[in-house]
Formats: sequence, structure tokens, C-alpha cells
Amino acid sequence: MKAQNHIASYYAATANDRTRHPALEGTVKADVCVIGGGFSGVATALTMAERGRSVVLLEANRIGWGASGRNGGQMIGGISGEAAIKRQHGAAGAKLVRDIRYRGHEIIEGRIAKYGISCDLKHGWMEVAARPSHMRAIRAHVAERIKDGDGDHLEIVEPQNMPRVLGTTSYHGGVIDPRSGHLHGLNLCLGEARAAVNLGVRIFEETPAVALEGGAKPWVKTERGRVEAETVVIGGEIFDNFDQPRLKGLMLPTGSYIIATEPLSDAVVAAINPQDLAVADSNVVVDYFRLSADRRMLFGGRCNYSNRDPTDIGASIQPRMIGIFPQLADAKIDFAWGGRIAIIVDRVPAVGRLAPNLYFLQGYCGHGVNASHIAAEIVSDAICGTTERFDLFDRIRHVRLPLSDLFGNQMLALGMLYYRLRDLL
Ligand SMILES: Cc1cc2nc3c(=O)[nH]c(=O)nc-3n(C[C@H](O)[C@H](O)[C@H](O)COP(=O)(O)OP(=O)(O)OC[C@H]3O[C@@H](n4cnc5c(N)ncnc54)[C@H](O)[C@@H]3O)c2cc1C
Repeated sequence: MKAQNHIASYYAATANDRTRHPALEGTVKADVCVIGGGFSGVATALTMAERGRSVVLLEANRIGWGASGRNGGQMIGGISGEAAIKRQHGAAGAKLVRDIRYRGHEIIEGRIAKYGISCDLKHGWMEVAARPSHMRAIRAHVAERIKDGDGDHLEIVEPQNMPRVLGTTSYHGGVIDPRSGHLHGLNLCLGEARAAVNLGVRIFEETPAVALEGGAKPWVKTERGRVEAETVVIGGEIFDNFDQPRLKGLMLPTGSYIIATEPLSDAVVAAINPQDLAVADSNVVVDYFRLSADRRMLFGGRCNYSNRDPTDIGASIQPRMIGIFPQLADAKIDFAWGGRIAIIVDRVPAVGRLAPNLYFLQGYCGHGVNASHIAAEIVSDAICGTTERFDLFDRIRHVRLPLSDLFGNQMLALGMLYYRLRDLL
């Protein structure tokens, strides 16, 4: 497998750290070996280093190469699969969901302040009703959150008030969450990696893990090296299950794609998104958008239902963007890119233990900015001996797709098509 550089994107073009870390040669030892250099892996490595452990991090490509360096940058409260967690764990599940809802935000905000990470964090996130009937679910969600003591800050925007919030007639109201927001994901990931290195974490890029084992003496083998550690963490949405039966058929990749326009004028910005909100629509197959710090429209969503990369991302996403914001008809598209969103059938992030000293965290279903940081803290707590929250995730009975190695792509494409049709009906 040849290591790859960051994909050409708005994020890679505006990355503020170009550090290259060496590849691993030979054998090294550490308390913790983390596999994966996205949010999950980097946040775990940083947390464990903050707690005084020696850490080695292995990244197959570059730090932030995967979804963490390509995403929509929406920092959204809560994790996916909350209903399933409550169903399976009752009151303990409801408490877990409420307690961790903004924990990822707190960790990210804390690290931006503590380590001086520059990643364009802005507060303000909105879910918009793609159909009039979707407002019912939005109102019910807000009412439940208020009843729960966790919703007073949420602001319902009635349909007639939408023109004050967004310059489009495509949506039928929505809810603003001022505690959520948006940021430059690649710069957050690179900033956390820099902080980890400063605390002694040894990062190896262009170093894919090829085999591993937990148990009494865990190890990870790479192409030209080996790590011997007390604990191994499969840290992220890595679509290789390392022959671990529990990871088979658990996580399925689906494509999501983003375009970035040229920087927009003050007048256009004021007309389309005067509050600088990150926005996601209420469909299951979501469209999402926000403005970058240099005022480009970053508009993302799905291109097709075949689960294959489109030949021309711009050609399929741009018409949808213009459909929502006709004001952008003449805006030049400067960047177009895509990545893999990791879907778990029951939507609960997969966080658990495969052997006494072998952990995994992955599968945030498009909500990974916040959720990966929560999961990294929960796994770090478990490694350090506090397992209350970890055990709730580890005990989730996930739906696995049999034969997903052979037919996962087609099954997911069919599933997405089903949800798209449901969104349209
Ligand atoms: C286009 C797109 C838009 C998205 N938008 C949003 C959004 O707006 N808000 C939100 O919350 N979430 C969003 N997401 C989801 C979010 O980005 C992810 O959930 C999150 O980044 C996952 O982080 P991770 O560290 O688990 O995985 P990744 O960031 O994918 O990192 C995994 C890393 O592991 C490395 N790796 C793979 N195999 C190996 C190996 N064998 N050995 C060593 N390293 C290996 C990869 O190179 C990669 O760098 C989006 C995702 C995509 C693709």
C-alpha cells in the first residue's frame, strides 16, 4: 500500500502545519500504541500523553489524511444513535447521552485555548427542516431536551422567520444550537498532533499497521517495524478489521463530497448566511454547508446512490447548492473533494475492547468531530481504570452485516437509496 498525501481540498490548501513525521523503522516500545492519525487516534494519543503515558502513534498516510482532514467541519452536539443507546441501557443510557452531549466541544475548546490551536472555531449550528413535516420532529426534540434540563439554549426558528436567518426559501424552519458550531478540521487535527508531539508522543507517518495482537504482551507490526506496548488502540474509522471477528461487518463506508466556492463578497455573505451558522438539513441523507473563515461556501452532501466516487464532484453538488442559494450561480468552484463516512447500522459509535489491552473506537456516522473526542476520552479513561461510560458502549449489541466484505457496498447503496426515497416522500 503506497502512502498518500492529503487529498487536494480547501483544507489541505489552508493547512497551517506542514510537518512531516518519519516512518517507523525497527522496534520501539511504549505504554500505548495508537493506530490512526485522525481525530480519534490523535485525541487518544494526546489524552494519554497528558496523563503521563508514553505513546507511539502510527498513521498509514499523513496526520489528518482521512475523514478528519476532509469533513464539513460541523461541530454538532450529541452523538449518533442516541435512541438506540437509550433503548438498550434505559435510564443509564439516557444519563450517558445527556452527560456526554457537549463533552467533545469542551475538549476541543479547551485544547484550542490551552495549546493555541488556530482552527477557525465559530459558534452557531442549525438544523433546518427540509420539509414542513420535519418541523414536528425538531419541535419534539427541543421539547424533550428542555424537559431534560438541557435545551434552554436551543432556539426554534419559525418558518416565517427563516428569511432573517438564511437567504433561501428551501427550508421550513429549524433550530439553532449556539453551543455547537464549525471549524477547520484538518487544522484542529494537526494542532492536536503538534501538542501531542510536544508532550513526547512519537508520531510515525507513512506507517500502516499490518498486524496486531492484544493479550498479555500486545504488539503491532508495520511494514518495516514493530511496536511493543502495554495497550494497543485501533484509533479511528479504519476500514481494516485486522482479522478481529468483532469488527467484521460493523462499519460500512459511504461517500460524502464537498465543494468550496471562491471567497464571497460581503454582500453575498450578508444575504445568504448573516449569522455565519453551520447548517445541516433534516434529511437522513443530509446536505450540509457553512462558510469558511475566508468566506467561501463549503457545501457538502451525497453525490449518488451507487456508493462509488463520482467522476465530477462539482457537477453533481453545484446544482444542489445553486438550487438552495441562487445567489451563488456565478460563484466559481475552487475545490471539490470527498471522503468516507463510517456508518454503523444501528448508528451507535463502536467503542469497545477486543482483548484485555486492545481497544477500538470508530463509526461516528457523520458526527465525528464531537464524537471522536468523546470516544477518545472514554477509551483513555478505560485504559487508566475508569470504565463506567466505556462499559456502556462496550455492552451495546451492534447490528453486524453478514457477508459485508463481499456485498457491503451494494447493501449500503440500497440502504441509502431507501432513506433518500423516504426523505423525498
Ligand atoms: C466528507 C465528509 C464530511 C464530514 N462532515 C462532518 C461534519 O461536518 N461534522 C462531523 O462531526 N463529522 C463529519 N464527518 C465525519 C468525521 O469527519 C469523522 O467521523 C471523523 O473525522 C473520524 O475520525 P477518525 O479519526 O475516527 O477517522 P479518520 O479521520 O478517517 O482517521 C483514520 C486514519 O487512520 C489511518 N489508517 C487507516 N488504516 C491504517 C492502518 N492500517 N495503520 C495506520 N493508520 C491507518 C488513515 O490514513 C486515517 O488518517 C464527515 C466525514 C466526511 C468524509
